[in-house]
Amino acid sequence: MESSLLGYSRGDASAKTFQAVNPENGQTLPANYAMVSEEEVEEACRLADQAAPIIAQFKGPRKAEFLRALADGIDGVVGDLVPMMSAETGLPEPRVRGETGRTCGQLRMFAKLVETGSWVDARIDRAQPNREPLPKPDLRAMLRPIGPVAVFCASNFPLAFSVAGGDSASAWAAGCPVVVKAHHAHPGTALLIGQVVVNTLKQCDWPEGAFSLLFGEGRTVGQSLVKNSRIKAVGFTGSRAGGRALFDLANGREEPIPVFAEMSSVNPIFVLPGMGEGRIEEFTAGLMGSATLGVGQFCTNPGIVFHPSGEFGDQFISAYVEKMKSVNALPMLHQGICDSYAKGILSLSSCDGVNVEYQFKTENNAQGSYAGPCVLSASVDDFMKDSSMMDEVFGPSTLLVSYHSADQLLDVISKMEGQLTATVFGENEDLTTHGSFLEHLELKAGRLLFNQFPTGVEVCEAVVHGGPYPATTDGRSTSVGTGAILRFVRPVCYQGFPDEWLPEELREGNPLGVNRSEG
Ligand code: NAP
Repeated sequence: MESSLLGYSRGDASAKTFQAVNPENGQTLPANYAMVSEEEVEEACRLADQAAPIIAQFKGPRKAEFLRALADGIDGVVGDLVPMMSAETGLPEPRVRGETGRTCGQLRMFAKLVETGSWVDARIDRAQPNREPLPKPDLRAMLRPIGPVAVFCASNFPLAFSVAGGDSASAWAAGCPVVVKAHHAHPGTALLIGQVVVNTLKQCDWPEGAFSLLFGEGRTVGQSLVKNSRIKAVGFTGSRAGGRALFDLANGREEPIPVFAEMSSVNPIFVLPGMGEGRIEEFTAGLMGSATLGVGQFCTNPGIVFHPSGEFGDQFISAYVEKMKSVNALPMLHQGICDSYAKGILSLSSCDGVNVEYQFKTENNAQGSYAGPCVLSASVDDFMKDSSMMDEVFGPSTLLVSYHSADQLLDVISKMEGQLTATVFGENEDLTTHGSFLEHLELKAGRLLFNQFPTGVEVCEAVVHGGPYPATTDGRSTSVGTGAILRFVRPVCYQGFPDEWLPEELREGNPLGVNRSEG
């Protein structure tokens, strides 16, 4: 039996257990995973709390050494990850290898960030003892780690947003310990990576408690983790219901803490009138690729497309349906996601004015969690009457909404919830003709795209993977890219300290050579 990783020890192996299920054939996988007890959650948090002040003092190069060694360690187990992750998630080998590359790339990106050090936003206001009417004190501020972070593994990114994914990488880079709650769908993948994390921490001489991995249910283990007073922030990717529950729980604590939950987004695409019929073929091919990538299980999957009605609309719908007919059913990540996809389509198709243009029939694959594409359509007038049409349907479905005047789109945007992405297709002149359109759109999404599809999030400096609620619980944040580190820090000001007692980033001679704002 397998058990949790509590610092450098293992959890109790005789507790209540669970097994993962292969979504390709519905068969239960052999390994048993013991769920942690309340006491073990407490122990993981105690160890994290103990490690926090030690890690907080680690300098950039020391954190970079660990992050790079971890990336190398994960690269080294890709041969084991392929069969384990494929069996637990149904994801094919190229995706496992691709996601391994992204995960290691993220770790190395944060290593480089903390090594160069300027990310700490150092601000210096020198003393002016002779200032009238009052002298000005010496004030120096920079970002410091927030403390132990609880991370929830995402079902749809078993590596890149799980044990050593973006949330953990950014927390470690900030100097915070991490307590991870594994996802029930891929515990073996979590344990494989967790063991690499533990070995790397030991090899780099980090304190016990910099990492723990907990197996157990969200409603018990996940909630007691978030309620634990030693936890100071939460990183989450998953459903709106789950993220919201954790957010409410964290805000109801005696000491409320920030929750960075990335949850629900339909990622609307607006096709403006200037696009013209000549681009329909190219557009529908790209849309099909974006909407069905990873069986539609990406947070940035484009769920709703607004397009001109009339001749253009008819041609567009039939071209898109033809493209989607070429896509086969594939296993979704777990049965729960597959069931909620089916429910989502049923609920959307029962809305007044919604037509099902095409739906893949999956009865031949009854053993696994297979799902195929679906195309639905509605008019913008009906769309505006029923806000449930804006609900996320997580999977390879697209709702095509026709409009007769681009002015109607301003009403759509004002009614729309917060989004991770919002995309505009058209010609440059469209942006001039519908200038206020972008101003409105900017208020609703974290990333705006022009003539490009939203799936395939680049991991880099400038990317924003966030957005107003319900895309996330904190629209000021990004969970992808170097900016993700800012979720797990807080500004600290040092007033009147002798130079040698200041963090190096704030000392007079700037020994690390970091960028600073000097007032
Ligand atoms: P989920 O059900 O939200 O689960 C994610 C994690 O949160 C799991 O560890 C789960 O625990 C835990 N959790 C869920 N509800 C909780 C609660 N009330 N209290 C405490 N912990 C809770 O998400 P999922 O399994 O990934 O997929 C389910 C649905 O989420 C999908 O059908 C889709 O609609 C949506 N989803 C959206 C995105 C996105 O990026 N927009 C990504 C993934 C999923 P357990 O291990 O016990 O389940």
